[in-house]
Order: sequence, then C-alpha cells, then structure tokens
Amino acid sequence: MKVLLTTLACLLLSAAAHGQAAGAGQVLFTNVSIFDGKSEKLITARDVLVENNLIKEIGKNIQAADGAKVIDGGGRTLLPGFIETHAHLMLMGPSVPAMEAMTTWEDFAIHGSRMAKMYLMQGFTTVRDAGGANGGLRRAIDAGEIVGPRYYPSGAFLSSRGGHADFGNFTSPPGESTNFSRLNMAQEFNGVDDIYKYGRNNFRMGATQLKFMQSGGVVSAFDPWQLVAGSPEEIAAAVQVANEYGSYVMAHSYRKEAIMNALNAGVKSIEHGFAFDCEIAKVMKQKGAYITTNLTAFDPGLLEIPAVASVPASLRKAKSASATFAGYIDNMKKCPVKRGFQTDCVGSVAACNIQVAYEKHLNNEFFGPHQSLVTLTSTGGEIVAMSGDFTNPYPEAKLGVIEEGAYADILIVDGNPLEDFSVVGTGDKWFDAAPRPESPETIRIIMKDGKIYKNTLN
Ligand SMILES: [Zn+2]
Repeated sequence: MKVLLTTLACLLLSAAAHGQAAGAGQVLFTNVSIFDGKSEKLITARDVLVENNLIKEIGKNIQAADGAKVIDGGGRTLLPGFIETHAHLMLMGPSVPAMEAMTTWEDFAIHGSRMAKMYLMQGFTTVRDAGGANGGLRRAIDAGEIVGPRYYPSGAFLSSRGGHADFGNFTSPPGESTNFSRLNMAQEFNGVDDIYKYGRNNFRMGATQLKFMQSGGVVSAFDPWQLVAGSPEEIAAAVQVANEYGSYVMAHSYRKEAIMNALNAGVKSIEHGFAFDCEIAKVMKQKGAYITTNLTAFDPGLLEIPAVASVPASLRKAKSASATFAGYIDNMKKCPVKRGFQTDCVGSVAACNIQVAYEKHLNNEFFGPHQSLVTLTSTGGEIVAMSGDFTNPYPEAKLGVIEEGAYADILIVDGNPLEDFSVVGTGDKWFDAAPRPESPETIRIIMKDGKIYKNTLN
C-alpha cells in the first residue's frame, strides 16, 4: 500500500509540474477569427479562454478570472500550432560521412536544441522526429531547460545493411559499431532478432514510435532509391514491438512494392511514398494509414545542387526518381488520403529555417491553403496521437485543433491564412534564399502548452 501511495504521489507531482501556464493560469484571447484545424471557413468574432495548458472555453464575451492575462486579437486569426511530422533535429550535416567521422554527442545535442527553438519560432508547437533522436531532447524541452516544441522521437533508424540509414564508413564490416550506433541514432538489423533488440531499446530510450528504412535514397552512398529492404517478417517484427508499446511504425518507402509491404505488415505512417497511386490510397484507407509528403523532393533545383550534380551516379538516380514519381501530386489530388507535413531537413539551422518556410510554400502551391492548413494542424495531431495512450508523452488532450479541452497550442497570425497563406511564414525560394529571421513577423503569438513564447500584440 505504501508503495502504491508513493507511486500515486509521484504521478500527481509530475502532473502538477507539467504544463503550468505563465501568470495567473488564465489567458483570454479576445476578438479573434478561428481556424479550428479542419473547417473551410473561419469562425469569426470569438474569444478563446486558456486555463493552465488547455483551451477551457470558446465563445463570445467570455469573462476571465481576476488576474488573467487578456490579449486583444484585433480580428486576427487564431489557429492551432503547427505540427511537423518528419524532421531530424539531431542531424546537422554537412554529410553523413562527416557526421560519422567527426562528430560527438555534444555536436548533436547543441544542434538539436537550436533546431528545437527554430521550429517553435516558425510556429511549430509539435515535432515528430523521423530518426536519430532519443528521449533526452524531449526531457530537456518538457522540463523547461531549453525552448522547443512538443517532441516525438523515433530513436535509432532501423536500417538493413547498406540501407538508407547504414551510416558506417565504406570499409566498416557488417555488425561493427559506428558513431551513430554507439549513440543509438542508427542501428543495422539483420533478421527479426535485431528488430526486437533495437526496437525495444528505442522505446526504452524514449522513442514514441519506430522508424523503419525500406527504400534507399538519391545522394546516399550505398542504397539505390529503388531498394526494397526488409522482409515481411522483419517489418512485422517492428510492428509487433511498436504494438507492445501501444504505438506504431513509420516507414521510409518509395516504390509501390515497398509501400504495399509496409501497409500489409501494419505500418501506419508511410514516409515520402513517392509511388503513391489510387490503389495505394484505397489500401491506406482500409488500414487507417497516413502519408507524409516531402515536397521539396520535387524541386527542379535539386538536380543542380553540387551533391547531386557533381556525382554522375547521384544525378542519374535523381533523374530516374523524378521521372518515376511524376504522377505523385496528381494522384494525391485524385485520390486524397490523410497527409502530414514533412520537411526532412538535414543540415544547418539557418538552412533548415529556409527549407521549412519553403516546404510551407510548396504545400500551398500544390494543395492550396485549406488542405495545407489541415495537413499542418489536425492531421498532424492525429498522426502523433497514434503513439497511443501509454507511450504518447502528451496524452491528456488533443493536438492540432482549436476546441474546448484541447491543448493550448495556439498561434495568432495577421490576416486570413485561408486567403493569403503567406501569413503562416512561407518562403518562395530555397537554395538562393536570403537568411530568414528567427520568427515570421506575421506570426504574432506563439503559445505552447499554455505558455507564451512570442507576443508582438501587447
Ligand atoms: Zn527523413
């Protein structure tokens, strides 16, 4: 009994420490138009009352308690904080060999903490990390040691030998430890036993879902993009381990065969999915699966960057990939499925700051403002919630929506993003873009978990 009471006391204490709002515990936003994460129209002339870390009430003429902070929205738009569903906060580049040979944990930690802040200041109150990060960064953010979004790491990439996350040196023998494996950022599997071992270790080290590498890449050293790695048994083993934790698997999949293998094994989140077509859409719907799209991968400028253009094999890979995936966007419009936002940036904070803004811009170019906003908010919220009741680090409320009872992750922007999407902080250039400021001017309020991180209204 004593043990039980102690446990309960600990639970209560940690719940109290989590999510304390600034000030008197209430923040009232008056006179705002609301994008709720889903609707095609704004709900105009409303007040939104936040108490501690939750949205308590939405309505008209709401009376806040004495001592509450009141912020006049001035008719601006209030919307959910954005959700990035595929980032790599630890991977600073400039290349995989450089990170393998010349990097220690301090480099990764410093980069990760700066990336976390960059994302929050671009309006992202939640980030799902698609490989290379464990639970430490989240611990530091949630404890208030550093500034950043809610954070869903995947632990080490699970990659086959020679697969997309085999970051070993060229002559490194199979199974030999690497810089990345020692830090549990990437692990090489060879059979289901390795999946059990490294998958469970990922959850033990704070992962909220697993990341499985099926396909290859364009600039990576050993893997053709056409690779279909992972036997049905190995993918199923990853799904089994994730299910033990009430969670799910996200898979890096390009070709149709890879996507189908993943879906049939129970993978819930298809990353990239460049061979997407209407048949895949049908299976995804049956299985309740999601896709995240990295639209910068379709930028013609990619063929000109030195890492691609100067290496004949990479240029050939890039050209064949572009040709094969020509139907991607059209198919997605023809047979829409639930789609998450993905930037997938590996590189300096300044470069990723530009890429995030450009990825926002491309979403609007290809899918228009409403679909882009849904992708950035409510769909992202559904995706991260698949980590399940007991593995999700933020299980008390919904993310990605403005509704009573949801987490108070809130932005206020100038204007109406359903009409002028640029107010969310887009950038229309990538490689030749000028450096971007820390936070877009048009994003006036950034609140996460009831706490205000930016306020240029009063
Ligand atoms: Zn990635």
